Amino acid sequence: PELFAPDRVNSAGFDLTHAPTVRQIDEARTPWLTHNWSAAPLLAEDVATDATVDVINPADLSVIGQVSEASKDDIDLALAKASVWEAPASTRAEVLNRAADLYEENYGELFALLTREAGKTQLDCVSELREAVDFLRYYASRIPQAEAAGVFTCIAPWNFPLAIFSGQIAAALATGNAVLAKPAEQTPLIAYRAVSLLHEAGVPRTALQLLPGGGAVGAALTSDPRIKGVAFTGSTATALKIRASMADNLRPGTPLIAETGGLNAMIVDSTALPEQAVQSIVESAFQSAGQRCSALRCLYLQEDVADGVLTMLTGAMEALQLGNPWQLSTDSGPVIDQTARDGIQAHIETARAEGRLLKQTLPPQEGTFVGSALIEIPGISTLKKEIFGPVLHVVRFKASDLDQVIDDINATGYGLTFGLHSRIDDRVQHITDRIEAGNIYVNRNQIGAVVGSQPFGGEGLSGTGPKAGGPNYLARFCAPDHQHSGA
Ligand code: NAD
Repeated sequence: PELFAPDRVNSAGFDLTHAPTVRQIDEARTPWLTHNWSAAPLLAEDVATDATVDVINPADLSVIGQVSEASKDDIDLALAKASVWEAPASTRAEVLNRAADLYEENYGELFALLTREAGKTQLDCVSELREAVDFLRYYASRIPQAEAAGVFTCIAPWNFPLAIFSGQIAAALATGNAVLAKPAEQTPLIAYRAVSLLHEAGVPRTALQLLPGGGAVGAALTSDPRIKGVAFTGSTATALKIRASMADNLRPGTPLIAETGGLNAMIVDSTALPEQAVQSIVESAFQSAGQRCSALRCLYLQEDVADGVLTMLTGAMEALQLGNPWQLSTDSGPVIDQTARDGIQAHIETARAEGRLLKQTLPPQEGTFVGSALIEIPGISTLKKEIFGPVLHVVRFKASDLDQVIDDINATGYGLTFGLHSRIDDRVQHITDRIEAGNIYVNRNQIGAVVGSQPFGGEGLSGTGPKAGGPNYLARFCAPDHQHSGA
């Protein structure tokens, strides 16, 4: 199939350089600045709930709402009542398109939730809503002629609590499955609003149920033999646990679509344009406080330009505004919670003790902020795990070692994103032919993907594929016998 679905355009989003647009956004989200939300399981039948777990704003540790997490009874009821969405594909597409419209109409509340629950800057809010809406409309436009798999569990991470959460659900619903949606425990409130809007658009409550909670709820929803497929986005460690529990319970051919972590590298050679490379590095490593699966973790600088690039880079890091993500002037907000902050800062302190910390900027004192950090290391193989925050590792390399650098990057076993800055075409070809990564970015930043034209997903330890937002994704949500037909 063609990559560009002709019957559909991506959402226009908002232009944050246009003052009237910025004022319009402010008016729409300000009523939600002090709102207290409440979330609970949304099941096929109403159940009594008691929202007692506080949800915290990572920027200032204030309480922004409460959630009632799913109990064992809720999970049993959801599994018993789940029923595939029998409506014709055209009806499912209409409903998903209506949901996309409702997301756009409710942008003020959704932006407020993204900022107050997940620490998202305004720029990140705009991109995230666009992606969520694009997923809904794109999957609605590409429904294959195939049978639904059955009951599908969708498990999302907190770092794209609207876009990834909605994308998984949209794909599973477009193909007619019954969905049990489990958001990350850090971001249940926006998940509750999203599912409410999907129900309002016309998705039957038996076809989409929300089960807030943590890993135990996720484990119960992936190991039950009634589950006929799982779409998971999160860490590689959790994906491996899910795969093990599915293997015990499920018949062969049951899909596990897992999008996981990465140890993403960038190579900057001596022909790169330094200003362009530095801007790409800062965006890739530090935007969204480094909490993107695609974020740059390990920068390889050719030794003859390394000192110059590092001088510019440390200057650019100082200029980055860390602070309250509600303000338009903020470039980067907090990390998601105290546990995340402590883990990231411990990694930085180890580097400091070993004399490898080149720089860390000062973070705001309230909330769970981490100052942007730059750490020198001898090679990517010394990184034993993904550090999910604003920490960039730097390695100097000699031109004669380029092939060794490529081998070292591939040897991590991950393969999500890769960035390259070079102005020599043959070298770009040589490197991109050999690097094993799902998404490769040349002479630009290495974050971001575009539904329908730039599908996203990794290889190896970074994911099973097929890529989200691409033409092969929906077929994986269909019954195993039908996965090669349609789309
Ligand atoms: P996580 O693995 O800790 O949690 C992800 C989800 O899995 C949460 O909803 C969590 O409650 C649930 N979960 C935890 N234990 C479970 C279990 N045993 N069974 C079932 N579900 C369980 O990840 P996170 O910290 O929320 O998210 C960050 C990670 O996600 C990073 O590794 C990042 O790279 C990755 N990520 C990948 C992509 C991608 O597209 N490849 C996108 C975003 C995030």
